Amino acid sequence: MDKVDCIVVGAGVVGLAVARKLAQAGREVIVLEEAEAIGTITSSRNSEVIHAGIYYRAGSWMARMCVSGKHALYRYCGERGIPHKNCGKLIVATNAKETEKLQSIKAHAEANGVLDMQLLAGEAARALEPALACDAALLSPSTGIIDSHAYMLSLRGEAEGAGAAFAFHTPLIRAKAAAGVIEVEAGGEAPMTLQCSLLVNAAGLSATTVARNIEGMPLDRIPPAYLAKGNYFSCNARAPFSRLIYPVPEPGGLGVHLTLDMAGQARFGPDVEWIETINYEVDPSRAERFYPAIRKYWPTLPDGALMPSYSGIRPKIVPPAVATQDFLMQGPRDHGVAGLINLFGIESPGLTSSLAIADHVAELANI
Ligand SMILES: Cc1cc2nc3c(=O)[nH]c(=O)nc-3n(C[C@H](O)[C@H](O)[C@H](O)COP(=O)(O)OP(=O)(O)OC[C@H]3O[C@@H](n4cnc5c(N)ncnc54)[C@H](O)[C@@H]3O)c2cc1C
Repeated sequence: MDKVDCIVVGAGVVGLAVARKLAQAGREVIVLEEAEAIGTITSSRNSEVIHAGIYYRAGSWMARMCVSGKHALYRYCGERGIPHKNCGKLIVATNAKETEKLQSIKAHAEANGVLDMQLLAGEAARALEPALACDAALLSPSTGIIDSHAYMLSLRGEAEGAGAAFAFHTPLIRAKAAAGVIEVEAGGEAPMTLQCSLLVNAAGLSATTVARNIEGMPLDRIPPAYLAKGNYFSCNARAPFSRLIYPVPEPGGLGVHLTLDMAGQARFGPDVEWIETINYEVDPSRAERFYPAIRKYWPTLPDGALMPSYSGIRPKIVPPAVATQDFLMQGPRDHGVAGLINLFGIESPGLTSSLAIADHVAELANI
């Protein structure tokens, strides 16, 4: 049986960052990927926002990894010429009650180490974005956008440059962990068996399934899995904004917000739709809820401007009634299986946090 030092399951942005980190630390790495290419699932179905780290619960992994990951990501992109833009974001209040909330959002962000937020009166916000309707706003200067595909290509290139190998069309089928050695069966028509001493489960939406297929992994340590789809609508009118525009968040979601891609094209969403099985179709009738929400801050949004675009699915590990979840990153101390690291619930801000998650995986693996 072939032996390899480390196996990473999944070549999304997180698996790629982990593979690069392990390979650059001198470890032998094989990445097993079920699909035909890198980053075809959630990593290519998101907003491509470099989040500042404003809303996450203070002290949570999401809060800490978003802030440290954001700094690492800006540095990474800057040093390598990866297209990104530190465009900033405005959280806009459109009534007195929301205006009151801005102060507490700012305080929460500061508790997370986001110290550059600025409260703006309506006029000051309109000086930045003249088409904006708002009573007041909070400016987040450190929010930005990134070409996530260029970023993933770079991670792959650096992982391969440090010796990592990629096997596409090669799903992990099952594994067996015993006495510090993990035996992995992977592949499609002609499965192969490999032995490794470190297995990193970065399978995104399938991470819980992969964990259940590892003999020796205690089932009571595997969280439940839920799917929360996020639908996007594109805009066939030119949106007159150069920053990302978010309403004041409501319980259960961030509200219908506007993000921009690297070409300056606006899109709205994602919303939250709990689903039972994976499907990526966008129901055009959901636009009816988008129009009134967007017109609160962009009153001149033309009728018929919104077109169903794409969707992504959040790998939830808490049910709809629970407002927030955190990343669940388990090493041997958490589940008792030597050489196994599970990454569960890596929803937003997983892209922003990817380099920080990779650093944490290295720590869990004592590298
Ligand atoms: C709607 C939405 C918007 C988002 N917006 C943002 C944002 O603006 N900013 C931000 O920071 N984050 C955002 N995120 C979060 C971010 O997209 C994810 O956290 C990140 O892409 C997760 O990457 P991943 O590598 O863990 O998972 P994935 O990209 O899903 O990769 C997992 C990989 O594992 C492979 N795989 C699965 N099972 C197996 C198996 N058995 N064997 C081998 N391979 C397997 C899959 O094919 C896939 O390639 C958003 C997420 C969603 C859903």
